[in-house]
Amino acid sequence: MEYGLGIDVGGTRIKYSVADRKGNIAYHNTIDTDYIDRNQFLQKLEGLVEEVLEKATTEDWEIAGISVAFPGIVEDGVVTEGAGNFPGIVPLELTPFLEKRFGLPAIAMNDAIGMTMGEHLFGAARDVTNAVFITIGTGIGGGLLIDGKFYNGYHDRGGELGHIMIERDGLPCSCGSRGCLEVYGSTSALVTYYEDLIGRRDDSYNGQMLFEKYIAGDLQVLKAFHWHFRNIAIGLGSLINIFSPQLIVLGGGIVNSGPQYIEGIKMYIGDFTMDHLRDTPIVPAQLGDSAASVGGVGHLFANVLNQKK
Ligand SMILES: [Zn+2]
Repeated sequence: MEYGLGIDVGGTRIKYSVADRKGNIAYHNTIDTDYIDRNQFLQKLEGLVEEVLEKATTEDWEIAGISVAFPGIVEDGVVTEGAGNFPGIVPLELTPFLEKRFGLPAIAMNDAIGMTMGEHLFGAARDVTNAVFITIGTGIGGGLLIDGKFYNGYHDRGGELGHIMIERDGLPCSCGSRGCLEVYGSTSALVTYYEDLIGRRDDSYNGQMLFEKYIAGDLQVLKAFHWHFRNIAIGLGSLINIFSPQLIVLGGGIVNSGPQYIEGIKMYIGDFTMDHLRDTPIVPAQLGDSAASVGGVGHLFANVLNQKK
């Protein structure tokens, strides 16, 4: 049976899945990125593809192609810019390297686009044509599905939904602007805000742990979460007013901590949306860790491999 290999490169981990055209996962694995330089990265990529191809012979998988989701600007299979966690890596000729080395069709895309594809093809946004995707983690990523197509701006340079401004003259952001949703709505921002409230820094604090305290009703944590929920609602409100999506899909570890998370955001969303849009559904992502790798495989089957037949 035909499968695709989907690879999702992150700053700390590389996740990869072997999946069929319907998104069923036959194999999923994670390795540390341990980035040093471009050559070492390509060797690592080569090693994991070799591992999967070797496994494919014993498991009877016919690997038909490879997709790579990468956190940067990807144009025609080449990472050209924006790979902040990978100093010295651009230009990175991802698909030319993989096609030459393995003789298989390959595609590459921005990781947020990969996640969006995964949720649209196989996850929470399966049956819709218009959706906004937001991932909440160390930063805030996003994706747009408009009239059934993924929209990422000219030359895939846009779609940076984490960098809409929610606070004029706010805190500086890594993007060069200030007051961005990412600076006020990320999990890291939540942790920092809580630490400021209690006047103590602690490396062991994370979103998951704070969420448990939120459920338990810790007063300072409640205060921090309501600040966080309102910030997210300000950002989502603007996106809802602009795009009128059928639904908003939220991903990231903290979102899946419990239904109270999205309920918290819903408490504020009506303050920042037009009346006729205030009931826009907000739902959790369904594919978790494998969204971008499986989304890439889905895209590979739908657009690249089908055209070759
Ligand atoms: Zn920014």
